[in-house]
Amino acid sequence: MLSVNTPVDQPADNVLVLSLASLRRRSDVVRRIQRAACLDDLATSVARVPQGEVHLDLSVEVRGLDVVVAGQIETQWQAECRRCLEEITGQIKLSVTEVFRSVDPAAPDQDLGDTFLFDGTPGDEMVSVEAVVRDAVLLALPLAPLCQENCQGPAPERFPAHTENEPIEQEPAPLKDPRWAALDGLRIDDEISPPDSVV
Ligand SMILES: [Zn+2]
Repeated sequence: MLSVNTPVDQPADNVLVLSLASLRRRSDVVRRIQRAACLDDLATSVARVPQGEVHLDLSVEVRGLDVVVAGQIETQWQAECRRCLEEITGQIKLSVTEVFRSVDPAAPDQDLGDTFLFDGTPGDEMVSVEAVVRDAVLLALPLAPLCQENCQGPAPERFPAHTENEPIEQEPAPLKDPRWAALDGLRIDDEISPPDSVV
């Protein structure tokens, strides 16, 4: 199930986090990560990846002081149509190219742009391929999923137009009208005979 070309020093339970020192020891070798993986909490408020399952075909390459993670990510998503609430699914196929770069201690305020930072402590940095995958997939999940472009929302025969909220919304109106009418009457009276002119 795992096909990373070169053994790397890392716990077997997270093959998506690679040791920078190990990568640099064989910096001429391009590592491949071709496998399925399950990431926790791969979801937004509207869409989710079932079981967090992603299919990866990535290369991890040392380029000078940087590490470049590039390749394809494929996954499925599930969501409810935002109009009719039907369950819908879709496919995501992404191409990514992301650069990991150290903060230069001589210029800690340098603009690192869109680069990823190494995890871990100086001397024990890690390259989190998982972070690349997670960011890419979360950004690609639909924000406002629709079952079809012209979805008309709930079918009237299945979801009647009269909801139980409706009487509550209407309630204030009849109570409000007589009260305002009474106030309007008082105001008119005041205008006709203001209190201080009665003496
Ligand atoms: Zn729909």
